[in-house]
Amino acid sequence: MKIHKGDTVQIISGKDNGKTGKVLGVNVRENTVLIEGQNLFKKHSRPKKQGEKGQIITLPRPLYISKVMLFCPNCKKATRIAYKVNEQSKTKSRQCKKCNTEI
Ligand SMILES: [Zn+2]
Repeated sequence: MKIHKGDTVQIISGKDNGKTGKVLGVNVRENTVLIEGQNLFKKHSRPKKQGEKGQIITLPRPLYISKVMLFCPNCKKATRIAYKVNEQSKTKSRQCKKCNTEI
C-alpha cells in the first residue's frame, strides 16, 4: 500500500475530483482509504433511549485507493511515488517523482 494514514491525498475521480484531504485510515483488505472531510454522507442515528432525539451525523465514506493519489506538498499536485532505500538504516522512504521531495 502506497498510501498511509496521515498522508495528504488528492481525489482523482468522481464528484470530489481535485479535492485534497488527510487520510484517516487505510483498509488494506478492501483497498479503500478514508479521507477527512471528503466523500461525506449523512447518517441518521436513531434515538437510543426514549425521549432522546435522533441525530444526523456526517461521516466520510471510504474511497477506492485507485481514486486517490498522494499529494506532494512541494509541487502542490497529485504525484507518483518513487521509493528510495536508505542503505544504512534499511528503511524505505517515498519521494515525489517530479521534484524528489521526500513525502
Ligand atoms: Zn513534488
